[in-house]
Amino acid sequence: MEIKTIQAPTEKRKAKPADESTLGFGKIFTDHFFTMPWHSDRGWHDPLIEPYRPLQLDPTAMCLHYGQEIFEGMKAYRGKGGALFLFRPLENIRRMNVSAERLCMPRIDEGLFLEALKKLILLEKEWIPRGGGTSLYIRPTMIATEPALGVHPANEYLFFIILGPVGTYYPEGFSPTKIYVTEDYVRAVPGGTGYCKAGGNYAASLYAGELAKGMGYTQVLWLDAIERKYVEEVGTSNMFFVIGDELITAPLTGTILPGVTRDSVIRLAKSWGVTVSERRLSMDEVMAAIGGGALREAFASGTAAIVSPVGQIYYRGKEHLIGSGKTGPLTERLYNEILQIQYGMKDDPFGWSMKIAD
Ligand SMILES: *Cc1c(COP(=O)(O)O)cnc(C)c1O
Repeated sequence: MEIKTIQAPTEKRKAKPADESTLGFGKIFTDHFFTMPWHSDRGWHDPLIEPYRPLQLDPTAMCLHYGQEIFEGMKAYRGKGGALFLFRPLENIRRMNVSAERLCMPRIDEGLFLEALKKLILLEKEWIPRGGGTSLYIRPTMIATEPALGVHPANEYLFFIILGPVGTYYPEGFSPTKIYVTEDYVRAVPGGTGYCKAGGNYAASLYAGELAKGMGYTQVLWLDAIERKYVEEVGTSNMFFVIGDELITAPLTGTILPGVTRDSVIRLAKSWGVTVSERRLSMDEVMAAIGGGALREAFASGTAAIVSPVGQIYYRGKEHLIGSGKTGPLTERLYNEILQIQYGMKDDPFGWSMKIAD
């Protein structure tokens, strides 16, 4: 299928942000987006890059009622000399198809998805900021658009990709976060949709997040839904602990999101000779390690921040300090290494970085 382009008239194009230090996240979007509808009779058709615009949906569009909505989150980076890079884009494309299958939505051809992504980014390349740590955030999304009530998989969908410049996550250097362990609420259950980037998962997580915020914590640390004992994820990131010489993260058993950053952290740390375990880690073990002085570092991993150090953890009525409460050496090393690979500034032994323009 040929991807057509309709360019936005010059006078309709937005001014690019003048000050890259105030970009923030998720507020500014570019002049064009990619759209492609699907119909049960025709499959995917009419892939188009067109001027950014509001969507027109019937009030009965099924995504609004039954929540068939999935998305992805990835970034394009401007490296030295202006070259443009994506980081492991096929992982996101494949993960979106895994989410699609679980929510009874149609798969997207990997080649077409990547081609649309590249074509849109190259058209919008002037929007990719230049400052250290800045990037172009990419949000592929799929929604059920069939105008009908009644619970069933929709017969019509829209896939779209929007782009927006985002600032560096750490304008003033690392600042370790405080996290709140909840035993009252859960994010995902075995057999559920925890491994999908599906909108409903995030709607269901807000309540506990607000409670944590009200108590002065940035994120919720989710435990397993059955025993409420084992560490799963933190907010919308994967969670890692360093106990003694072991780097520990939850295994992929269907209730956590298989983060691309999580996988990169695991493989890099292993390549450095670190003992990495994907295993169940109970809060009892975490508390014992804190008590015995063996818990050295904790961090969250995700596309937004790469790694985000955790300095304090609230559990059963008490706040506990992790290590010295400062960013640990492994956390910092992982951050620097992944950042440099993403911007094409370093050897890329795993072939993670994909150059899309010189
Ligand atoms: C997106 C996401 C992550 C991190 O995934 P990355 O691919 O590393 O960005 C982790 N947990 C949840 C719940 C997420 O939505």
